[in-house]
Amino acid sequence: MAAFSYATATGPLGAEGPYWDALLDGHLKLPRCRGCGAWHWPAVWRCGECGSWDHEWVERALTGTVFSHTRTHHAFAGTEAFDRPFTTVLVSLTEVPIRLIGVLEGSEEGLRIGAEVEGRIDRTRFGTHDIPALRWRLVA
Ligand SMILES: [Zn+2]
Repeated sequence: MAAFSYATATGPLGAEGPYWDALLDGHLKLPRCRGCGAWHWPAVWRCGECGSWDHEWVERALTGTVFSHTRTHHAFAGTEAFDRPFTTVLVSLTEVPIRLIGVLEGSEEGLRIGAEVEGRIDRTRFGTHDIPALRWRLVA
């Protein structure tokens, strides 16, 4: 099995490279502009708010609330590793105004918009690579 490389997944100059590297290290890191403090996701090279090129990557907790969710019954590219049906959640992070997507694991009892979730970093198969992926679980 080939080792994951963010350069393979995103291109050698992808602004989100530090995100993937941090996930491979077991942490969530997101970019914040050093010029004005704005958070950016997807990652950008240049801040659209103040024009700065300088971003810092800050570790954030994998906690949040469900912004939206959907259940998938049919396979499509990139979902081969999942038993179907599976539920995907879009999560509004607690600490920053950023939403991240991932597959819900565990019980779906209590799944609703606004439900609290916590995440973990897993791996999923994409083509011939295992890549980092977020998993979310409802907080009881
Ligand atoms: Zn800025």
